Amino acid sequence: MALKMRIAIIGQSNFAADVLELLLDRPNIQIVGVFTIPDRGSREDILATTAIIHNIPVFKFACWRRKGVALPEVLEQYKSVGATLNVLPFCSQFIPMEVIDGALLGSICYHPSILPRHRGASAISWTLIEGDEVAGFSIFWADDGLDTGPLLLTRQTNLEPTDTLDTIYKRFLYPEGVKAMGVAVDMVASGVAPKIIQAEVGATYDPAMFKTENQVINLQATAEKIWNFVRGLDSVPGAIATVLHENGTEEQIRLFGAHLYSAGPVSNGKALRLRGLTKTAWIHSGGLLIEGTDGVFVNIRRIKRDTKVINASEWFKQAEDQSITDFSEDELVKRSLVAGIWKAILKEDVDSSTDFFASGAGSMDVVRLVEEVKETFDVPLQNEQVFMAPVFEEFFSLLVRFLRQGSACSDDQQLNFQAFTLKANKREIRVPTQLFINGEFVDSDSQRTLEIVNPTNEEVICKVACASATDVDKAVQAAHSAFYGSWRQITPRQRGQLMLNLADLMERNKEELATIESVDSGAVYTLALKTHVGMSIEAWRYFAGWCDKIQGNTIPVNPARPNNVLTFTRKEPIGVCGLITPWNYPLMMLSWKMAACIAAGNTCLIKPAQTCPLTALKFAELTVRAGFPPGVINVLPGKGSDAGQAVADHELVRKLGFTGSTPIGKHIMKSCADSNLKKCSLELGGKSPLIIFADCDMDKAVRHGMSSVFFNKGENCIAAGRLFVEDRIHDEFIRRVLKDLRTMTIGDPLDRSTAHGPQNHKAHFDKLLEFCRRGVDEGAKLVYGGCRVPHLKGYFFTPTVFTNVTDDMFIAQEESFGPIMIISKFNGSDVDSLMQRANRTEYGLASGVFTKDIGKALNFADRIEAGTVFVNLYNKTDVAAPFGGFKQSGYGKDLGQEALNEYLKTKCVTVEY
Ligand code: NAP
Repeated sequence: MALKMRIAIIGQSNFAADVLELLLDRPNIQIVGVFTIPDRGSREDILATTAIIHNIPVFKFACWRRKGVALPEVLEQYKSVGATLNVLPFCSQFIPMEVIDGALLGSICYHPSILPRHRGASAISWTLIEGDEVAGFSIFWADDGLDTGPLLLTRQTNLEPTDTLDTIYKRFLYPEGVKAMGVAVDMVASGVAPKIIQAEVGATYDPAMFKTENQVINLQATAEKIWNFVRGLDSVPGAIATVLHENGTEEQIRLFGAHLYSAGPVSNGKALRLRGLTKTAWIHSGGLLIEGTDGVFVNIRRIKRDTKVINASEWFKQAEDQSITDFSEDELVKRSLVAGIWKAILKEDVDSSTDFFASGAGSMDVVRLVEEVKETFDVPLQNEQVFMAPVFEEFFSLLVRFLRQGSACSDDQQLNFQAFTLKANKREIRVPTQLFINGEFVDSDSQRTLEIVNPTNEEVICKVACASATDVDKAVQAAHSAFYGSWRQITPRQRGQLMLNLADLMERNKEELATIESVDSGAVYTLALKTHVGMSIEAWRYFAGWCDKIQGNTIPVNPARPNNVLTFTRKEPIGVCGLITPWNYPLMMLSWKMAACIAAGNTCLIKPAQTCPLTALKFAELTVRAGFPPGVINVLPGKGSDAGQAVADHELVRKLGFTGSTPIGKHIMKSCADSNLKKCSLELGGKSPLIIFADCDMDKAVRHGMSSVFFNKGENCIAAGRLFVEDRIHDEFIRRVLKDLRTMTIGDPLDRSTAHGPQNHKAHFDKLLEFCRRGVDEGAKLVYGGCRVPHLKGYFFTPTVFTNVTDDMFIAQEESFGPIMIISKFNGSDVDSLMQRANRTEYGLASGVFTKDIGKALNFADRIEAGTVFVNLYNKTDVAAPFGGFKQSGYGKDLGQEALNEYLKTKCVTVEY
């Protein structure tokens, strides 16, 4: 049997451990000893750990020689293993020649450059710094020089523009290097390993980049040189630059994530002065922009200041932040516990700047980290918070905030905002009164306010900040940064979880939300609880379920023979979305739109109706508690003509979701086209026909007919704007409606027995009076109401019934949006004429039919021009069912899967193979 080659491995690190494991598989090789560095504290080098598992003798030397002379005891131990070949995969120690030459076959050594270019300890950095087109590694026979011995083999790869020190190491130098060490050993074993003398032409010996003075970047250089220097030190240790602050102080920073930037100067940047750079550098939404001496720009994505890595775009924001520095002794003890958890997971030393993911952590590690931290500190940490604070210092600060406040996202967290306390419904509810931009409550730039009036008593409840166009711009910029920044870090499933958190918080606060809605909009409390708030919660839950189910198709297309082609589609979020909503269901309109928008992965800003923005502001508070990153959701109460218009006009807003009247919808559509051709969906007014045939279930028809008009005091976009009642039952139907109306309880919406509350606001109330006056003037018969409820303060409008209405009358054609029933007769033998009359409107939102004849009902459903058809019921909407109109009632659905598509764009990808 041939003698096995006896190998001593001298080195350290994962690389050396992997080489060891690779060689263990070779039948013709015996690893006789591993020589590595001593333990650091209690931490053993992975090479030693791996060797021990395989019962290989391990020797740990702090040094091999003293004053240039090999230590005898070290030499003796080395000789004891009787190695015939020394393999040095990665070795940071100086090995004496007695050892290098001590093995019969000599010593082979891995070096991360194509020798002789870039000799020395920082070869990979210099490959990038010098702008080489190829990178590679060499395995050479060690001699008495530094990286000068004869070559055994080399491997090379083209350098990509996206390469950094990290990427080139991870994608090539490490994996291919381990394999090549195996090949080199095999070549030695079979006696075919060459010894090619290194040329001296092109040989260099580069400075070591672990010396701080060598890490300072020269900014008086071309853009390409700056870029190469930064990527050559990315991610360790990072190129050093110095910021010159306006107050005369200086701050040393490190730069990461460099790339050449061809888009040119930025228009909306903030100036930053850097030492050694004669021109101004700019912080902008994409990072830090530096101009090279050749006029070309380099963009820097990340900056390390002190121990914390931040997005360069957030430089000025971070400067304003109060990061936690005053840790108590107890917190410092906890810090080392957390560091221990990180270290155990990452299997490497952890310092303030350790990035969890850059250190190789995956999703299971996130789960382990969260669970261990939760168990150790009893805090309600969630997985997505690790993604938002991946650097150790950030993570620990987050934890300290949890510990100091009880919980950073618990229900009792007191956010910093101005509020008023609403005392109603036996509760005291704090309601924010400022704009919500980028995760913070702030005053309006213009300091203007809106007076919020309680429609039940006509008194001012509070004043809230009124957004200007400048505030809208700030919110759009925040949403834009979030869309391209923090929101992208969140996976779809985590996004769904955030939405579920929010829904749970809304559920826990539903009485508060319903109380606010009732006081602010006049909604009857019980209805507010069930519909305004209840359906809002359902919308968030329903759309949360969609987050991780948004998928495209694979499409069979004609291949370009002889090749094959794969075509698939991706559904992608659109970007920053503007949402504009009316006052009839303030929180529900917000939720219908925003839940779909957020589920699709967009960021947004909403301008709620100026008359009742309070639930939207309370909602904003809940989004912070639910854990949404800043900028993802922004809430800006304000006027439509000002803030609303600014949203429609903004060039960074890519989609507008609007619910409101048809005239404003048309105006907005023009603005969307003129500004940047933004996609828009419009949920507009309606004049929905309800047909009641004589063969209906009369009790049901009366009950639903009443609610089709009077539900939510008629402030209901799908309200039946016109009832067509068959002549045979017309009088009976009216008699029964009037009977029920006379017993309807009208009064304080917070009273649980109330069925009908005040109209939303004065202008609307006055409009309803005018609507009725026109009906009377045109000859319709006012059989009930048409006036203010006598003896009641507040905007209480008496539920109203008109009969003898002809098709040409104003009240037959225009939407009242109030509690006004408009009744016309029809003859049951002439369904064709009836359908013509029902469709003779420019609106097409909803419709209804009552009949026991299924054929008649389906015939109606076929022929009616409306987006929603109710048969033998009315007002039955559901978050899973698409909702939206035809004709001038708009287009683009709310709710259901179709709503999700309103907030997605389709990308088609074709690949030839
Ligand atoms: P609106 O007057 O059209 O207002 C709707 C929203 O648009 C409000 O937030 C309003 O701000 C804003 N706005 C006004 N002018 C604007 C402009 N130039 N640019 C951008 N935004 C502007 O409607 P409304 O009176 O609030 O609501 C009633 C209407 O909504 C009815 O026609 C009803 O049928 C319809 N609606 C439809 C649906 C549906 O799903 N189809 C649902 C509910 C309501 P201000 O607060 O300053 O007015």
